[in-house]
Amino acid sequence: MEKVFFGKTSWGKDTYKYYLENKNGMRVAFTDMGACVMEVWVKDKAGTLRDVVLGYDDVLSYEKSGTYFGAIVGRYANRIAGARFELNGREYCLEQNDHENSLHSGSKGMARKVWDVVTHEKTKIVFHCVTAEDDFPGTASCDVTYELTDENALCISYDAVCDEDSPFNMTNHAYFNLNGHDGGNVLEHQLMIRAAAYTPLKPVGSIPTGEIADVVGTPFDFRVAKPIGRDIDADFAQIRYGSGYDHNFVIEKQNDGMEKFAEAYSEVSGIVMEAFTDCVGVQLYTGNFVNDPGKHGVHYDPRAGFCLETQFFPNAINEPTFLSPVVRAGEHYRSQTVYRFSTK
Ligand code: BGC
Repeated sequence: MEKVFFGKTSWGKDTYKYYLENKNGMRVAFTDMGACVMEVWVKDKAGTLRDVVLGYDDVLSYEKSGTYFGAIVGRYANRIAGARFELNGREYCLEQNDHENSLHSGSKGMARKVWDVVTHEKTKIVFHCVTAEDDFPGTASCDVTYELTDENALCISYDAVCDEDSPFNMTNHAYFNLNGHDGGNVLEHQLMIRAAAYTPLKPVGSIPTGEIADVVGTPFDFRVAKPIGRDIDADFAQIRYGSGYDHNFVIEKQNDGMEKFAEAYSEVSGIVMEAFTDCVGVQLYTGNFVNDPGKHGVHYDPRAGFCLETQFFPNAINEPTFLSPVVRAGEHYRSQTVYRFSTK
């Protein structure tokens, strides 16, 4: 199995780059730093491979990345208001790394850890980490499995357990650009999201108000595919609060299992990406604050990629009207998200 040295972290730990490949020549690269997805090579309509995710060339950039390119984010992805929550009568205080809020669990989060690789086969890799020092309850043991199928699907499975009751909200923070990571902005990409509602934000700090709002007649209506850029700068308060799309959508679910919730397409490459999950929410983030030196000397400007971060709703741990992300001691948190690629 292909594995190459990737460099040392700031604290001197060796990191590696790992590859998966399927029988169609689709290739995906990962690093154990943050269990990140580094490269996703898929064939375009002409049969040429394009790397459709943003990333970096060196481990130190992944280690300190404020954009979290490709990272596994946990124990709690997205925001926790006031960087605090109460559980079983105890208050837990987290790092305030986004104004007074916690974002993506801060510097002690899983994206900042070097994970162990417990399995590495041709089309499957399993990353494992244990976290106790992250200011969340107890000690949590987490596995993330990436599998590449011959149907060109990248499947991501999360399995975590804690010895105390704990919130879990794990996601992958890949930024997709279906023209290639060096393909400019994603404003012309067509995007469909199966969501009739979203969770509006307070004017400051990007914390949901607790409301579930209808998308009808707003820039948030992606039920019929439209270019990502069509309404991204609309004169609409919620769009201004996020500087574009940086909002959680309520996935329209027919059952508790895996369902298709989104589809993206770029006419330039002909690449289609379908997305499936068993999660209740997805954060559409259109890279509004991206301004990063990326892979192979490419500079990524704002909106160079888009994320579909499957999740519980932001701040669900403090918002009683949202589905609770708390998992009881000894019980398993499990979820799955799949990104499947094809052309048309
Ligand atoms: C957040 C954005 C943030 C980005 C990178 C997204 O999940 O919603 O506000 O800028 O992650 O940290």
